[in-house]
Amino acid sequence: TTKLLEVNNLKQYFPIKGGVFGRTVNHVKAVDDVSFYVNEGETLSIVGESGCGKSTTGRAVLRLDEPTEGDIQFNGENLLDLNKNDMRKKRKDMQIIFQDPYASINPRQTVRQVLEEAMAIQDVVPKADRVDKMMELLDTVGLGSHQLDRFPHEFSGGQRQRVGIARALAVDPKFIICDESVSALDVSIQAQVLNLLKNLQEQYNLTYLFIAHDLGVVRHISDRVAVMYLGRVVEIGEKEEIFDNPKHPYTKSLLSAIPVPDPSHKQERIVLKGDVPSPIDPPPGCRFHTRCPFATEKCRDETPELRKTETMTGTHEAACHYMEDIEAGRHKAAY
Ligand code: SF4
Ligand code: MG
Repeated sequence: TTKLLEVNNLKQYFPIKGGVFGRTVNHVKAVDDVSFYVNEGETLSIVGESGCGKSTTGRAVLRLDEPTEGDIQFNGENLLDLNKNDMRKKRKDMQIIFQDPYASINPRQTVRQVLEEAMAIQDVVPKADRVDKMMELLDTVGLGSHQLDRFPHEFSGGQRQRVGIARALAVDPKFIICDESVSALDVSIQAQVLNLLKNLQEQYNLTYLFIAHDLGVVRHISDRVAVMYLGRVVEIGEKEEIFDNPKHPYTKSLLSAIPVPDPSHKQERIVLKGDVPSPIDPPPGCRFHTRCPFATEKCRDETPELRKTETMTGTHEAACHYMEDIEAGRHKAAY
């Protein structure tokens, strides 16, 4: 396996201006030292509650927002070394599909114009061949080539998302970030679009970074999963490991909030106290300590790093001081 994307120590701090002179008085630490990789042809999902930094991570990878710090290797090249123009060209290989297809598509443009514009920006298809390519794309995404001259409002939400996918595919990308791409759709339509994404992945050897808050969706689409909490990755690994053998108390709490399909598979319930703290002044040590039922003094003082225990397989890692002790029943929840 080849790593198509490798992100190391990514930070995204947004300045907060204040006072008479509009000086930077503080920062929102939206992403704070995040590392992960995505193998060619696989889907890595980033999952977490809103505000955990998952979308910010996606945008930083494409440099839609300039990252504060870090290293982003794509296909053997450090994206942060590229100038603006070369980065724009690089987006031929790296596309993004957003949650609301309507918001990302100009309502006054027909599908033909939307696709024409995408192809023209990157100049990947000779002008004379573009219409053929467009018709092929519409068939590929299951819309049908007869839809070429329709406007976005003439489509359903699911169909508009298919237009969004066609637009992303128009430049023959290697890598696509799906940022909550099915979140706005009805459950039955979600499944159709997820299956389409899976088929396209196989057909074109696409690599996905799939950003979502819905664990059911993540379970369906992912090969590997990264769980984020308050700007950091707290657990990462193969999908089966994350869902069947979670180690981090936060991952366990997320999973215990969804119904278990098999009732014989017992799952400890972890109910969290309070809300997610502000990323402006995140808690020291383990950022989860203000809500974790297992927290101790050490959790407030020392930041746990991602690591592996004996009962974890594959690439599975989690960041908690007490993983072994919790598992062995030596360290109990305080409430
Ligand atoms: Fe909870 Fe401490 Fe583990 Fe963080 S390090 S998840 S606060 S037990
Ligand atoms: Mg988001």
